Amino acid sequence: MPHLSAPSWIPKDSTRPAHAKIVATLGPASDSDEMLEKLIEAGVSVFRLNFSHGSLEDMDKRLTKVRRAIDNSGRCIATLGDLQGPKMRVCKVPDIHEDGGIMLNKGDQVYFRKGQGDAAIVDGSPSFDVTFDPFYEDVLPGQRVLINDGLIRMLAVEQEKGKWLRCQVTAGGKVTSSKGVNLPDSELDMPAITERDWKCAKWACEHGLDYLALSFVRTADEILELKAKLDEWKCPGQQPGDSDMGTSIPVVAKIEMPQAITNLDSIIHATDAIMVARGDLGVEMDVAQVPIIQKYILAKCSALGKPCIVATQMLETMIESITPTRAEASDVANAVLDGCDAVMLSGETAVGAHPRVVVETMQRIIKVTESRMDQIVHSSGLPTDMKEYPFRSAALAKGVWHMADQLNAKAIVVWSQAGGMARYLSQFDFRVPIYGYTSSKMAANRMALYGGVTPIFTQPPETGRLRDWTNQVENLIRAEGITKDGDAVLLVAGKPLGALLAQSTVSILRMGDASSGFRELITK
Ligand code: PGA
Ligand code: MN
Repeated sequence: MPHLSAPSWIPKDSTRPAHAKIVATLGPASDSDEMLEKLIEAGVSVFRLNFSHGSLEDMDKRLTKVRRAIDNSGRCIATLGDLQGPKMRVCKVPDIHEDGGIMLNKGDQVYFRKGQGDAAIVDGSPSFDVTFDPFYEDVLPGQRVLINDGLIRMLAVEQEKGKWLRCQVTAGGKVTSSKGVNLPDSELDMPAITERDWKCAKWACEHGLDYLALSFVRTADEILELKAKLDEWKCPGQQPGDSDMGTSIPVVAKIEMPQAITNLDSIIHATDAIMVARGDLGVEMDVAQVPIIQKYILAKCSALGKPCIVATQMLETMIESITPTRAEASDVANAVLDGCDAVMLSGETAVGAHPRVVVETMQRIIKVTESRMDQIVHSSGLPTDMKEYPFRSAALAKGVWHMADQLNAKAIVVWSQAGGMARYLSQFDFRVPIYGYTSSKMAANRMALYGGVTPIFTQPPETGRLRDWTNQVENLIRAEGITKDGDAVLLVAGKPLGALLAQSTVSILRMGDASSGFRELITK
């Protein structure tokens, strides 16, 4: 828990960039040129393309628009593709009842029939089909069948294995086409990555997306399987060293299954980033467990230097309403206080009535919350289960944090060619901006997800010397208006600038003091 300063009407320091980033899901409400421009202006750092909705042709169109908007903005913004994974859905539901779909009431008998396709009323009872056949083998009488994020609930009563399942409704509601089905009591024999997921992954690779998320992860092996394939495909446009996360698109593991909680440590080690996917997690598990799981995952990710996104229902009521509930505002603030890298918007920006207002509201909550957060005191050691290379970067980052604290530094500036050093620095909650320089466009875009990091895509000075870079840095920091003469700024860079896996050194820059020059204090 960070130290907090007393609240005030006026945020203490509103000029610094926000630490927590905003991920916005694209959809019909947000993919016009005008809306994309507004969302970027309001503070979106990552755009999510959700493969669960729409064809790859739709994604082509959407991506072209997003890329154009990003280019026009001149900012480094990441694109994240989200693979649906083995998400069970009901098949097409025609509008049978008055206000669309099929209405179910408590006590109703409902059938699921394999191979039926479109839903219908058969012999007086609603009859549905679902998108994966193991449903008809593995859902047993006595187990729960939940539809539409658990809003509609039923119990399986009787089955003919491989053919049909009869259920009784315990909480009613309207079922419409493609609504999600959760089966928290059943062990389904399903592939972790479906055929469609592989097609979408290939598309993400070919189109050079910056991140690829995998839904319903259960084990670390599933992440490794996806990563191995992405490496094999060698995404075009990806240069070796564009990311310290590997040679291909970094993978985001979505934690939304109880098995993922059991295997959490190995999953965090295997993946590049994490999403606390509370939508499905809160259906697959008791919703009462979600807040504490969120906190645990955030702490674990931060210790290991893995970016973590908190997702779903953050400002849900703003899909319709112009203001959030007080509980929602608190939810965003608490994710920020817990040190998340990013908070995510789903339906709010994809299909909501006020996408721009939602992003502005989220950004305001982040900024006001952060303005009252002081530096977190990190007294514990680094995790001992880290590999040697990340361990060195994490140790250096921790050292830099202590220096920043002692010197009351106003900014950290890092030349982080493949993004790794920027990522470890970002996990130490400086509460001062971190400027991440790189000459790799892809690395710069990926940095957009790292909490507190403002990516700067530029070429190193021709000499490759740190001294020549200092002037550039000093001008940038002055232009940002976050320092006065005499303030300290810490520089972290390897030699020569822009080289991969360069040995990083830390230097202190005193603003306005040309004679202070460079002091190399720590060499890793
Ligand atoms: P989804 O993932 O929106 O793709 O379902 C997020 C969640 O489940 O919270
Ligand atoms: Mn989900």
